[in-house]
Amino acid sequence: MNEHPTEHPAPVPEPAAAEPPASAPEQSGDRARRRRAIIWGAAALAAVVVAALALGAVRWADERSARDEYRTVLEQWQTVDDDAPGALPAELAGLDAEIAAARALSAALPEPLVGAELKAALDGAAATAQQTAEQHGGVVDGRGTAATSEPEGAAELRAATRRIETALAEREEAARDADAALAAVTGQRAAVVAAVDAARGALAAAVADQAATLTGASAEAQQALATASGVLAAAPLAEVAASATALTAALDAMRAEHEAAAETAAAANVDDPASITVVVNKQRPLNPISWQPGDLRMPAGIPNPNGQPVRAEAATALEAMYAEAAAAGVPFIITSGYRGYGLQTSLFESYTARDGLAAAETYSARPGHSEHQTGLAVDLDDGSGCAFDSCFGDTATGRWLRENGHRFGFILRYDAGQEPVVGFIYEPWHFRYVGPQVAGDMRARGITNLEDYFGLPVAPTY
Ligand SMILES: [Zn+2]
Repeated sequence: MNEHPTEHPAPVPEPAAAEPPASAPEQSGDRARRRRAIIWGAAALAAVVVAALALGAVRWADERSARDEYRTVLEQWQTVDDDAPGALPAELAGLDAEIAAARALSAALPEPLVGAELKAALDGAAATAQQTAEQHGGVVDGRGTAATSEPEGAAELRAATRRIETALAEREEAARDADAALAAVTGQRAAVVAAVDAARGALAAAVADQAATLTGASAEAQQALATASGVLAAAPLAEVAASATALTAALDAMRAEHEAAAETAAAANVDDPASITVVVNKQRPLNPISWQPGDLRMPAGIPNPNGQPVRAEAATALEAMYAEAAAAGVPFIITSGYRGYGLQTSLFESYTARDGLAAAETYSARPGHSEHQTGLAVDLDDGSGCAFDSCFGDTATGRWLRENGHRFGFILRYDAGQEPVVGFIYEPWHFRYVGPQVAGDMRARGITNLEDYFGLPVAPTY
């Protein structure tokens, strides 16, 4: 008992402020325990808080990382270049149209004219293009869709990221396929267009070559051909076949006129020197070369200072023409008519001596090659100073004769610009009698020279 005297509190009152000394050790131990408990509790709480905070931070960082990954792959999705699948249908439609144009043109090409190779080349280009179109017609638009709303949570973000990655890979592969298909189709379009352009160019060239041989075609028919050729050159692809057909038709029309001219020539007799339609030029001498007509006479009532006659039929026509011209106030005189082989020989020799052979041959014919030797040609003048001069064409008489001569059977034989065909410069004074039927027909068809009208070779030189 006495071992623990402090357990017995003394009656002595303690100072209020002081701790009771007797109970102090016991109370002090409790407090320490409590204090430790509090400290541990606080520490544990702090640890829990710190741990919770740390865990939150980790989770936050993890979600942020997942979100970054998600956004990166989504951005890749959004930036995939896949215009090709969208462009492909239009490109395929264009190719289909070009294949159709190539096949139509091939069908419209006249094979004897352009040759089988050209048609084969066109058909081959169309067939190759058709294969390409079939091969790439089934290319799928692999664009697909990606989720538009961003999920919450790292796991959800990662799952969404994987889904987008899978779709992205498919989409990129589809885009590559579509790029390749687009390149192939575009290439074929260019190839077909090139084949069509080559064919239309070859057709135009072949037609031009043919047309150059078709003498006897009217100016109208030649103009129609030139127009059709221009239309073909500029035609859009869809109209190429129709334009080619039109050009071929224009050529056929020219050929028909050429054949008609050949028939006319055969019927008209361009070879017999006694025929009023005999054609004499630098390639076609009179045969026999010194031939002379048997029905020459002087036209009545027309001034004829050189006194040269013409054949009877031409003389009658001249008299009728003179009567109308005089009545219209544009009378004329005859400066040349029939010139025989002998006279032409001496004239040509004197011209050659004076101007040289080359110059003389532009305005004077060699003996046997002069229309004057037929008795069907006259040189006319109005006495105004333009005799044997191009200015005669601008006189009132010259203009009247050009406009009205055909009604009496006369043509202006050597018109301006015809030298490559007729072999002589513009001679607005030289008129040739061919009869009203031929002269009227030539005028109606816009043909200015006998070589073209009768389908004869051009005669620029001897
Ligand atoms: Zn003449």
